[in-house]
Amino acid sequence: KSARWDKADSESKQLPIYKHKDKLVESVRNSTFLLVSGETGSGKTTQLPQYLYRAGFCKNGKIGITQPRRVAAITVAQRVAQEMQCTLGREVGYQVRFDDCTSQDTVVKYMTDGCLLREILADPGLSQYSVVILDEVHERSLNTDILLGLMKKKFSNPAKATDGRSSPLKVVVMSATLESDKLSAFLNNCPMFSIPGRTFPVDCMFGSAVGPKDIESTGYVKEVVKMALDVHASQMSGDILVFLTGQSEIERACDLLFEKAESIDYRYDVEDQTVEGLLILPLYGSMPTDQQRQIFQPPPPRIRKCVVATNIAATSLTINGIKYIVDSGFVKQLNHNSRVGMDILEVVPISKSEAQQRAGRAGRTSAGKCFRIYTKEFWEKCMPDYTVPELQRTSLTSVILTLKCLGVHDVIRFPYLDCPEERFILEALKQLYQFDAIDRRGRVTSLGELMVEFPLQPGLTRAVLKAATLGCQDLLLPLAAMLSVENIFIRPGHPEKQKEADEKHRGLATISGSTNDFATLLSIFQSCKSSDRPSAWCKENWIHWRALKSAFSVETQLGEILLRLQKRRDFPVETYDGNKSEILRRCLCTGYFTNVARRSMGKMFCTMDGHGSMVHIHPSSSLFDLEAELNWVIFHDVLVTSRVYMRTVCPIRYEWVKDLLPKLHEVDVYELSSVARE
Ligand code: ADP
Ligand code: MG
Repeated sequence: KSARWDKADSESKQLPIYKHKDKLVESVRNSTFLLVSGETGSGKTTQLPQYLYRAGFCKNGKIGITQPRRVAAITVAQRVAQEMQCTLGREVGYQVRFDDCTSQDTVVKYMTDGCLLREILADPGLSQYSVVILDEVHERSLNTDILLGLMKKKFSNPAKATDGRSSPLKVVVMSATLESDKLSAFLNNCPMFSIPGRTFPVDCMFGSAVGPKDIESTGYVKEVVKMALDVHASQMSGDILVFLTGQSEIERACDLLFEKAESIDYRYDVEDQTVEGLLILPLYGSMPTDQQRQIFQPPPPRIRKCVVATNIAATSLTINGIKYIVDSGFVKQLNHNSRVGMDILEVVPISKSEAQQRAGRAGRTSAGKCFRIYTKEFWEKCMPDYTVPELQRTSLTSVILTLKCLGVHDVIRFPYLDCPEERFILEALKQLYQFDAIDRRGRVTSLGELMVEFPLQPGLTRAVLKAATLGCQDLLLPLAAMLSVENIFIRPGHPEKQKEADEKHRGLATISGSTNDFATLLSIFQSCKSSDRPSAWCKENWIHWRALKSAFSVETQLGEILLRLQKRRDFPVETYDGNKSEILRRCLCTGYFTNVARRSMGKMFCTMDGHGSMVHIHPSSSLFDLEAELNWVIFHDVLVTSRVYMRTVCPIRYEWVKDLLPKLHEVDVYELSSVARE
């Protein structure tokens, strides 16, 4: 262990940030807000917290560092714990949604931006912290943007003791080199510290595989694989980093790469005779952490490493030794879809600035090359100059509720770095009103105060609370957990195995007794949990055991939150009669009445939220092909291709939503907003 540490220690002294250590610490000491910018990989995330720790900043408070991505929070904490030679979870720890790896001793705490937002709710002065570092601010994630505004609003004036703090909070904002002036101006013209980077030239080449006509196609996986193999065969030694879109695409690409790499004859097919093999490693958000560790290890001698990653490798994580980039030109992004009125994960072209950032990953330690699979024309016609901040393209319902609970009543004039469109704010207010989380004058209701405590989307939270009110949370908590974890159904690529898996999954749908995708999820949870050998049960039923294990843990944690809320005196209590299947569905209706559809013609349904979109049942649903027997349904989410598909569907009776549906139209958003403007 100690040899490993010596290596890490000498490595960290080579980082560009090291030379500026003392000046940086001084700057933090002397300012309330400080902006630190520097190229990705210069050592900001891993080193600055350690410098501050050694300089004594933890004597009366913790150092908290936020990350937009959970994987980044976890892996970076692991690395820093190793560098500081402590066990992860002791002095150095991390906290992400549903996974808390901290203790009484933790003073350097990496966390997601969402976690810090929750902590502010419980402790508005952040009294446990001496320093808060908002990291990766250039990514412009929704929660980081909100945190920026909150910091500006609450901690601008060091003379004013805020919310019971004894000494003022130090706020450090870290970003890649983009938008520094704008950030500093936003934070009351705070001092800027830029770490001079050393970057090497990267030669970028456009390809011919993806042009403007291919913007909707999924052919990019194959093309990326072809390109990566080409690079492997024709280029001198050096590792490859491939940028793809998401878990399933990455797994497919890795399978294909693996297959093709098997048949390479290294005597003839590969230009550089010192290269004798290819090590293929996937990297995406929900990957098991022991697998993530491999990414950072150097490959064995004469082996070329090829990491196939999501955008996480663009700025959040730096992998040493990368000399070649293969860029698909696409990213999976959460966007508000006005056609269906919901947030949807879609594959879209990256922005030009994103493409430059991706390319830059090849030039950290020496000159590199970037191979783009798309044409120059695609770059010019399909790729925007900059990525739109998340705040301007996704639903604001949750954050607006959080802001309101923090006493920010005027959510329109909140200090946003970039203002979201007013209609997005109005949409969020309207939804909160529909869920009874705010009243007609825009004030948080007692239900809203309960809702904000749940780290779930508002609709699901509403359904869970309804169930708890009726004393049947045992139906909804497992369901909420199952909907919160990554995909639980295994989908093998192989056609024959796929058939077997499909059959098993259909079988699981019938054990619940009623045809309804929510009930299926619930019964999978219960069957697996009561099984003597749960992992074997999963394997037999083509279910991801890892996902179910996290669902068990999430259910426990949600149960703990609920128990805490139920101790409050104002927790509502109601009684019910009716059978369990009906109660489950009625509870779901209270949260999903915004997602109601009525069958209109043949297999087509029409949504009732005022958009009146035409939607279909997705083939993965147990209700697929039973459309003729259905009239009213609710659904968890939609998948948009050339059609709009409802996924996770449940039949309901009109009576259950009859009184709720008018709420979708009744509210005058301007009434809500005029209060917001007051
Ligand atoms: P920045 O935040 O400025 O982008 P980082 O502090 O994330 O820079 O990275 C500094 C260095 O630490 C990089 O060279 C990176 O490869 C290395 N590093 C970060 N995490 C790990 C890890 N888990 N294992 C090995 N090296 C790591
Ligand atoms: Mg960083």
